[in-house]
Amino acid sequence: MSCSDWINECISGLIELYKTKDIYELYKCFNIKIIYVENNCILLQGNDAVYLRSCMNNEVVYIKDGLIFKYEKFVLAHELAHALLHTKIYYASFNKKLLNNDKYEAQANYFAFKLLEITIDPNRFKGYSITQISKILCVPQNILVQYLRFEKGGR
Ligand SMILES: [Zn+2]
Repeated sequence: MSCSDWINECISGLIELYKTKDIYELYKCFNIKIIYVENNCILLQGNDAVYLRSCMNNEVVYIKDGLIFKYEKFVLAHELAHALLHTKIYYASFNKKLLNNDKYEAQANYFAFKLLEITIDPNRFKGYSITQISKILCVPQNILVQYLRFEKGGR
């Protein structure tokens, strides 16, 4: 079973169990708190979001307030992947400018695409550049490239 199959199965299992694919509902189901903070909040350390598995006995995502809605959902779905799939990770930060090419990041990004049903229809995007697609989907360009590579079975 390839890595993407494993993640696809996790997602269908989630939806079956909780009867929702709404990212905010899923956070409630897993009792992970979303805390919106100001841009300059020290907890973010310059990132757009930070996930903490254990923060005073709570699982928490601190996320920058005022992000574009679609992008906020992407970031939350990415962090949910760490919470559910990567149980050894206790801290994860999300920064669209710094692409971490490790296995966990690629998996979390793939999870976010699939959970949010972000599809890259070749007909719709015929003739579009990666930059344009990235803007339309509200997904950072480097992550989009990583996803396309991952989906093809590479890393
Ligand atoms: Zn991550």
